[in-house]
Amino acid sequence: MPEDAQEITWKDDVERAVAVLFNARHGVVFTGAGVSVESGIPPFRGENGIWNYVDPVYLELGFFLKKPLVSWQKIKEIFYDTFGQAEPNYAHYFISRLEKRGIIETVITQNIDNLHQIAGSKRVLELHGSSKTLVCTDCGSEYDISFTDLNFLPPTCFICKGILKPRIVFFNEEPPQKELKESFEEALQADVLLVIGSDGEVLPAAQIPFTAKESGATIIEINIARSRYTDTITDIFLQGTAVDMCKKMGKLLMIE
Ligand code: NAD
Ligand code: ZN
Repeated sequence: MPEDAQEITWKDDVERAVAVLFNARHGVVFTGAGVSVESGIPPFRGENGIWNYVDPVYLELGFFLKKPLVSWQKIKEIFYDTFGQAEPNYAHYFISRLEKRGIIETVITQNIDNLHQIAGSKRVLELHGSSKTLVCTDCGSEYDISFTDLNFLPPTCFICKGILKPRIVFFNEEPPQKELKESFEEALQADVLLVIGSDGEVLPAAQIPFTAKESGATIIEINIARSRYTDTITDIFLQGTAVDMCKKMGKLLMIE
């Protein structure tokens, strides 16, 4: 650089992140449970995690198939009665507006809460399925949750009377291959990846940001705490809650 040339200096990391995002050729957002915490849905693990008060066995495929009623009673209580009423927060709306403005192409989420879609995101790859859909464990038919009455458990298939299961990825269950494949393709194409509220512990989903980084993407990360990404691949770490950090970015991008 010539001696008299001025290096561009951003006032802070939020400005830098916004500049990087704004100039993205193929921006992608990758979300974990942290993006929905301010909608009232806690993460699974960690200090206030669901596993501190609910036994994860209810989400094990083998247990579900053996004792669907017991499993369903817990699943209904957690995912449908308690969190079923949750609404998107500012971060979900911010992400959907990034897509509308053409700044990002895709949201890859590990969440099952459908909040990205409710907020208006169009291209959402759900790596761990969705609680909005139920699938028959016998014939594979799928039903929107609104067609079933969870006052009668376990819900059964209208066609074959088989037991219906939420279309979420249980423990010991394979993630949906199509979504997984498309997510890795997105990671390879992305030149900017914004990771929000993900620990980076749940494989194979956790690998996606590493793949993006290896293929040259700049990694922006929002999290209240350091994750497996922070000291390994993150280029710009915005420490804070999803809503606070997205509001700061939204202000600079004039997305309100
Ligand atoms: P995770 O990787 O999703 O971890 C949650 C992360 O969010 C942690 O790194 C934590 O520091 C961060 N975080 C917490 N509050 C935050 C906030 N307000 N803003 C930003 N970041 C915040 O791991 P998990 O919770 O153990 O989840 C395991 C799997 O289950 C993941 O696939 C997860 O997406 C899924 N899950 C989904 C939901 C949902 O659909 N809302 C809820 C719980 C878990
Ligand atoms: Zn069926």
